[in-house]
Amino acid sequence: MEDYQTIRAQLVALRDELEQRLQQITSTIRHADEPPEKDFAEQVTERESDEVLDALGGAAREKLSKIKRAIKRIDESKYGECIVCGKPIARERLEALPYSDMCIICAEKASQTR
Ligand SMILES: [Zn+2]
Repeated sequence: MEDYQTIRAQLVALRDELEQRLQQITSTIRHADEPPEKDFAEQVTERESDEVLDALGGAAREKLSKIKRAIKRIDESKYGECIVCGKPIARERLEALPYSDMCIICAEKASQTR
């Protein structure tokens, strides 16, 4: 059986980082109503970022749940298997994308049907 403890540590670090980022995003949205006291350039940047914050938050949340599922799969010794076809996911793919739950073939199929 392969030892995924290094990847698990990576995933835990990623999870903590993302949870922090999500908190920041949430507090930024909450403070969006505050009167603008910054110069024009900063206001523009802020308005632009407000528009992407929601999308960003959604993407981060999706990633976070993937990371949490990956950690759970390591703990259950199910990590590294494709959730669609059950074949092992290439080690290089796991190292590049530690929270991937599909092999490259199934992932490509899934992105095509979307
Ligand atoms: Zn697969």
